[in-house]
Amino acid sequence: MAKQVVEESVEDAEFRARARAFLEGAAKRKVKNREHEANLGNTNTSHEAEVAYAQSCRDWQRTLHDNGWAGITWPKEYGGLGLTQKHARIFAQEESKFAVSVGMLSVALQMVGPTIIAHGTEYQKREFLPKILNGTHYWCQLYSEPGAGSDLAGLTTRADLDGEEYVVNGQKVWNSGAQFADMGILLVRTNWDVPKHRGISYFLVDMHTPGVEVRPLVQITGHSHFNETFLTDVRVPIANVLGDIDDGWRVTQTTLMHERSMIGSGGTGVTFGAIADLAQRCGITDDLVMRQELAKSYTRFELLKWLGGRAKAAAAAGNPLGPESSVMKLLVSTRVERDGDLLMAMEGANAMLSNADAPDGGSWQQIFLSQWAVRIGGGTEQVQRNVLGERVLGLPGEPRPDKTLPFKDVARN
Ligand SMILES: Cc1cc2nc3c(=O)[nH]c(=O)nc-3n(C[C@H](O)[C@H](O)[C@H](O)COP(=O)(O)OP(=O)(O)OC[C@H]3O[C@@H](n4cnc5c(N)ncnc54)[C@H](O)[C@@H]3O)c2cc1C
Repeated sequence: MAKQVVEESVEDAEFRARARAFLEGAAKRKVKNREHEANLGNTNTSHEAEVAYAQSCRDWQRTLHDNGWAGITWPKEYGGLGLTQKHARIFAQEESKFAVSVGMLSVALQMVGPTIIAHGTEYQKREFLPKILNGTHYWCQLYSEPGAGSDLAGLTTRADLDGEEYVVNGQKVWNSGAQFADMGILLVRTNWDVPKHRGISYFLVDMHTPGVEVRPLVQITGHSHFNETFLTDVRVPIANVLGDIDDGWRVTQTTLMHERSMIGSGGTGVTFGAIADLAQRCGITDDLVMRQELAKSYTRFELLKWLGGRAKAAAAAGNPLGPESSVMKLLVSTRVERDGDLLMAMEGANAMLSNADAPDGGSWQQIFLSQWAVRIGGGTEQVQRNVLGERVLGLPGEPRPDKTLPFKDVARN
């Protein structure tokens, strides 16, 4: 069947050509069917490799900034280009063909920035947005706690006002990239006398403040991607409260929506072409069952592509992100789970090997093991289904007896 070609306007085609010309000069093209090796399939788990990767993310963001390509949709007065979502999409399409990534800066660029633009004071926008765009500030997300993950609003890290500052005490966990972060978005409880969602505040915290202690955690893949973060008498100025005091849950929703959308549309670096290529090298393409599974895999990739296109078209038309971000996140989770099983089945007994002993240096084993990071981070599959059930299908909500009680009266472990 002939591919349908959608004509681009002259202006868009010119923008694409300019983007491509810049990228050709500043970056190397990805190796076809090996795109995943730089992402989740990366097998180098040494500390030096993590540090070098973090630095490469900063370097690429700086290159984008210095060449006038940073913050395509962000307002001009805060260092952005003031262009449209369509321009951002065109640039992302071109950039995805090159072996570069802002990787760990995505929290800052895709979650923190849009939240500050939506809810920040003039001071916060001028202080923080330009430093995100020029790669100076690396941000992490300090939301989850040992007793508050899916039920994030059950968090117990507390902040008490002392003069012009809040004093924060508590513990956060699973904080991606916190070991490299300059700043963090931090959720704290500022009011214990109201129901749980109404007593949370949203802080912008300097990670170099005395009392912030970050301890890396090792994941199933061997990488130390995330951390636990201990906060002891950490002082945060009132000027760094994003949104109103006790109204942080509303601000949080903006960040979470952008997070789900980022995970949903960002992919994992794996392409169907790479899976098909491995299938051929494993010699399983005549196996009828495997052929069926490969067809299903291709279908999942196509569904995600079109769903992503739909979400981006809606964004380009100025429609805010909604529960669709949960659909995308759920479908990505399903894809990494099923494709993970398929990859290991294709390799057969070789799937039990790792690193240099395994096919392609073990990068497919890494992809398989990374699936839980994708499926749990940003909200689990079960939680996305709850969101869809309640907000899209209009089903009755889960019984939540603790939703209306003052938080201080809610039973906790
Ligand atoms: C790779 C990775 C990166 C992360 N990065 C960050 C980060 O940077 N910052 C941050 O703050 N957090 C981060 N997280 C934490 C992540 O948001 C939480 O792990 C996630 O929200 C789940 O919370 P939990 O781990 O406490 O699991 P729990 O909430 O304890 O859930 C345990 C199980 O119970 C199920 N469950 C819970 N509630 C319900 C319900 N109501 N209905 C049905 N099933 C339910 C869940 O689906 C899950 O299977 C990251 C996690 C991962 C894996």
